[in-house]
Amino acid sequence: MASIVDSSDDAIITKNLDGVITSWNAAAQRIFGYTAEEAVGQPIQMLIPDDHLDEEPFILQRIRRGERIRHYETIRKAKNGTLLEISLTVSPIVNEEGKVVGASKIVRDIRKEVRAREDLQQSEEQFRVTLNSIGDAVIATDHSGKITFMNSVAEGLTGWATAEAVGMPLDCAFRIVNEFTRAPVENPVEKVLAEGKAVALANHTLLIARDGTERPIDDSGAPIRGGSSNLMGVVLVFRDVTKRREAELTALRLGAIVQNSDDAIIGKNLDGIITNWNEGAKRIFGYSADEIIGQSVRRLIPADLQIEEDKILERLRKGDRVSHFETTRIRKDGTHIPISLSISPIKDQAGHIVGASKIARDISERKAAEKALFEARQKLQCHADELEQKIRERTEDLERTVGELELFSYSLTHDMRAPLRSIRSFVEIVLEQNREKLDPNGVELLEKTVDSVKRMDRLILELLQFTRMSRSPVTMEPVDLERLISGIIRERVEFQPPKAEMEINTPLLRVSGNETSLTQCLTNLLDNAVKFVPRGVTPHVRISTERNEQGVRLWIEDNGIGIEKESRQRLFELFQRVHKNSYPGTGIGLAIVRKAVERTHGQVGVESEPGKGSRFWLQLLGERA
Ligand code: ADP
Repeated sequence: MASIVDSSDDAIITKNLDGVITSWNAAAQRIFGYTAEEAVGQPIQMLIPDDHLDEEPFILQRIRRGERIRHYETIRKAKNGTLLEISLTVSPIVNEEGKVVGASKIVRDIRKEVRAREDLQQSEEQFRVTLNSIGDAVIATDHSGKITFMNSVAEGLTGWATAEAVGMPLDCAFRIVNEFTRAPVENPVEKVLAEGKAVALANHTLLIARDGTERPIDDSGAPIRGGSSNLMGVVLVFRDVTKRREAELTALRLGAIVQNSDDAIIGKNLDGIITNWNEGAKRIFGYSADEIIGQSVRRLIPADLQIEEDKILERLRKGDRVSHFETTRIRKDGTHIPISLSISPIKDQAGHIVGASKIARDISERKAAEKALFEARQKLQCHADELEQKIRERTEDLERTVGELELFSYSLTHDMRAPLRSIRSFVEIVLEQNREKLDPNGVELLEKTVDSVKRMDRLILELLQFTRMSRSPVTMEPVDLERLISGIIRERVEFQPPKAEMEINTPLLRVSGNETSLTQCLTNLLDNAVKFVPRGVTPHVRISTERNEQGVRLWIEDNGIGIEKESRQRLFELFQRVHKNSYPGTGIGLAIVRKAVERTHGQVGVESEPGKGSRFWLQLLGERA
């Protein structure tokens, strides 16, 4: 018994009921530092720190009652004053009569255990913090699939707080379905438990959070094994891949756009090696992607244009783009093809230029069209030149013919006046000398002959005026309209009271024109103004001028019979008479007016309404300052 006590690792100490130490083994000496001689006979309180002194009466009380105290963890003090973490087991010592006479204490130094426990706590805390700080969501379960841990990211994604989730079966907090079929996805924990190894989750998995929010996730599960490598549970790691999925989708879309483009879209690195080749490129250049990827882009460039690639690369390295550069490339079959090139640098995530994208458009059709257009234009120009030449020649011919005709009609009309004058004189002589001898019928016929001759002479005279108007050269000069018109009125009784009333809205503006032609125009217009009035009405004519953008407008307004709309424009052509049967005339007067004003860069027109008079106007140039 004594040897067991001595070889024990634990301190074994006995004391009597007064708390005095009665025995002290070797381990007690090792733990507390006192030798047996020093300790035996001393009060047990020497081992108890001041703030633990109240434990002793309590322990003694229980010992007296014959009770034991097991594995009581407390602090004691060594000889050198250091505090020791110990585990106490105290048992009563009973004499033959069954009376408690003292106590035996087994004291275990538990410093190592305490440290180990603290270390464990610390490392657990560290794990918790670590798991909460990582960007991925983590859920751990026990071997039956019940949640034991959730980090904050997992809380965020599932919508469950750890406190609520712990103890729940995994699929309550971690609801996953297939994105397309919406069928529940196999519980990864069950899968890990069944297979005993790490598994990745199926693709297209949606996590449905507590509030119904759905997120695409990516996850994996791994078994948690204990020291003896038995399965303790499963740890599930997952992340929200919404952003990545969007990026993938964008990449897919871009890829599809590139593939389906009509243009050739080619990627190359900075050494000019082709890295990408779309369908458009295949169609335009004839090479398949397999044939050309990895080859130098120079294969597409004709020998005499190789320098272009050097220049392009130089610009790309500077980060410049090349837009719509028209050039020629070679197809697989050796034929040349005109293309329009746009080249942009490709940068990596850090912004370094790593290559270039080339978009090449086949412009052979456009080039052909341009060529055809150019040729057509040239042909057209040739035709136009020819046509112009022909027109020039014909115009000259026509002018000559017109000149001849004008001369002819001028001489004809001119020469016709002399015989007419003779006829008129002879008839008048016959009438004068033989009026009594002739029967009344004969006299009437001869008088009609004189009238006809007069009308014919008037016609010829006006025609002469008309032809003269087109033949004689005109000069522009300042004209005092007021003086001119007053003169015309003074010369003709038809324009004066009581035959007519002329109202001149003075002062009339001065104009630039030809006085002779203007006199002719105004006489003709005034003639018409006093002529075309209803029978018995005194003509009232108002003459005025106004300034406008083109110069000066001269108005001659009458109170006559007016003109219907349909007839208004043709009045200015030769021999046009609207009121043929009721009024005499030749239909030449207004044609002369038009010719005359047009030769002096003016215009003529009329505003009228039947029964409400007419307003003839001449647009003339204002007098130059
Ligand atoms: P003429 O007076 O000799 O008939 P014009 O050429 O001067 O020839 O005029 C052509 C026609 O225009 C006239 O016959 C007449 O019907 C119409 N006309 C001209 N001036 C007026 C006017 N002031 N009022 C009504 N009709 C007019």
